[in-house]
Amino acid sequence: MTLLLGFRHLTLPVTITGHLKKNPADTFAYTNGIIVFVKGGNKVLAKAVTDNKGDFIITFTPKKEKSFDFYCTGLGIDTILISSVTVFESDTPEMTFYIPGIRKKTTLGKTICPKCKRADKVYKIVYSDGIPDHFDDDKTANKQNSNPKIIDGEYYAGTCIVGIAKYYCDRDKVEF
Ligand SMILES: [Zn+2]
Repeated sequence: MTLLLGFRHLTLPVTITGHLKKNPADTFAYTNGIIVFVKGGNKVLAKAVTDNKGDFIITFTPKKEKSFDFYCTGLGIDTILISSVTVFESDTPEMTFYIPGIRKKTTLGKTICPKCKRADKVYKIVYSDGIPDHFDDDKTANKQNSNPKIIDGEYYAGTCIVGIAKYYCDRDKVEF
């Protein structure tokens, strides 16, 4: 084991035994038949599908990626970021993920983005099939943020399907 860890700087593949579980605070999502994929440096490194227990195995070879971002998608589920890690504890880690991911908050109660670990660009998602009345008021939209979907501190997902993501980070352009 020590020997293996000593060679971590060589690009050895990482094989993750993953378990996808329901977030106890938000049990709306299901865990079987979900596509899990890992992105590093904006590239999809590997993909897997969970079995009927929510388990999956995913293998990829890390290079110099700054972080490894785990996303889920599936029938009726928009692409959602569930976790972001910078290192793996071994070449064959066993990892538990939650869908939606466990959301952490700052001491002031603001939700923290799982990728940048900051709260300043995080907006609550509003699911709406319509656009708010003041959406076409360019002054209101643009004065506050360059992203026209962010209005009065909320992110308009613009879909009639209610997604399981509740927050959006405008720095990383991810929903979680
Ligand atoms: Zn972020």
